[in-house]
Amino acid sequence: MAETKALLLLENFIDGKFLPCNSYIDSYDPSTGEVYCRVPNSGKDEVEAAVVAARAAFPAWSSRSPQERSQVLYQLADLLEQSLDVFAEAESKDQGKTITLARTMDIPRSVQNFRFFASSILHQTAECTQMEHQGCMHYTVRDPVGIAGLISPWNLPLYLLTWKIAPAIAAGNTVIAKPSELTSVTAWMMCKLLEKAGVPPGVVNIVFGTGPRVGEALVSHPEVPVISFTGSQPTAERITQLSAPYCKKLSLELGGKNPAIIFEDANLEECIPTTIRSSFANQGEICLCTSRIFVQKSIYNDFLKRFVEAARMWKVGIPSDPSASMGALISKAHLEKVRNYVKRACAEGAQVLCGEGVDKLILPPRNQTGYFMLPTVITDIKDESCCMKEEIFGPVTCIVPFDNEEEVIQRANNVKYGLAATVWSSNVGRVHRVAKKLQSGLVWTNCWLIRELNLPFGGMKSSGVGREGAKESYEFFTEVKTITIKH
Ligand code: NAD
Repeated sequence: MAETKALLLLENFIDGKFLPCNSYIDSYDPSTGEVYCRVPNSGKDEVEAAVVAARAAFPAWSSRSPQERSQVLYQLADLLEQSLDVFAEAESKDQGKTITLARTMDIPRSVQNFRFFASSILHQTAECTQMEHQGCMHYTVRDPVGIAGLISPWNLPLYLLTWKIAPAIAAGNTVIAKPSELTSVTAWMMCKLLEKAGVPPGVVNIVFGTGPRVGEALVSHPEVPVISFTGSQPTAERITQLSAPYCKKLSLELGGKNPAIIFEDANLEECIPTTIRSSFANQGEICLCTSRIFVQKSIYNDFLKRFVEAARMWKVGIPSDPSASMGALISKAHLEKVRNYVKRACAEGAQVLCGEGVDKLILPPRNQTGYFMLPTVITDIKDESCCMKEEIFGPVTCIVPFDNEEEVIQRANNVKYGLAATVWSSNVGRVHRVAKKLQSGLVWTNCWLIRELNLPFGGMKSSGVGREGAKESYEFFTEVKTITIKH
């Protein structure tokens, strides 16, 4: 009993109020493996209550001017920024990432999401065309869709949730959000800022719990016409099936099996540290992380040696250690899954050059039950291996040689995913050619993860449906109507 009291207890946030739940799920600190928090195990009833609140709040919120809604978003961004350190520590404890990463990426980006959509909503314009020979003009109007269901994953918890909440409410919708049950804490903390920021009750509702209970109730609710989902491809399949009877608007941001293509004229001084980061940042738990590295044969051996040296310098440590580059993986089950991929590669005859099973991981006694793993580099692996085909979503990357441009494009495209790619070369013509031919929603050349939030973000093939960005998110969270006037 005494132990239960010490746990952080989250509550749902519905209609501007924190509400307890009948049952709870344990949530673990990935750096120790200890339960430290309890998350509401909500279901249909809580989703129904959130729908009632969101429906009631919609007329007033959607009638406000974009300027008024924008002011609320700016206010929320300021409040979040004022608590940046507290949020960063909480995100790190909940997810396992380093506090440094949460402080420099996750929380600043969450703040930026609110500021970005507070600004971009003021710059959306409608279309108008004329048809003189028919005596007509045509124009479009856009209205918020209604209640938006927002479902987000555990890897970048507040970052990805706010990337959905901000455009949805900026466009005048009310929302019901469901963060991952593995990482719910910062969403709950954000609810405490909403009233002060001027978000009216019912505009943002957060219902905590699992996918099968809360997620499915939301996706199957007839009064939630729009679902924005970020997560895995199998879950997207389920969401698509459940929403089909209602013809819901769907945005699906899914996984990747992202290639890095490194030509012999690449600047390796920049390429190696960036590709280390693109492979292992956030424990490799970013949908945009590199997991297949194709290196041109003439520089293959040199690259391999330097890359493995650099991977060994990518320090795994407890999340509060400022010198650590990488913290713990999200869960015991996920750690096992990632380790199993390495085992399967070994069984197929691949070589592990560093990391899992090769190097020793040293941790303080309290963290030895945490979900840590060393950055792992695999080579001598076939393109058909599961490690080269399936999303691992951990600190594991494979390096293989290639001969020429045409061949590498074909091999890079030879997976079901198409989210992100990097191309490294100092030949500008080649960079353009290769980028154009890759089946990938995003291509970074000679860099990684430099984001321009105005432009479309998202994947092709099994990496998703739809795009997010200033214009794309606005269009997704509004319904368009074409009006014809005959004069
Ligand atoms: P997941 O699909 O297991 O879960 C994502 C969310 O969906 C969670 O909130 C979960 O509770 C919910 N969910 C699970 N089952 C559901 C169901 N039946 N109905 C409705 N909701 C359900 O994914 P995850 O393991 O949390 O996240 C990792 C995945 O997310 C990886 O594949 C990764 O690549 C992907 N991802 C993609 C992007 C992107 O922008 N493309 C960004 C981050 C993560």
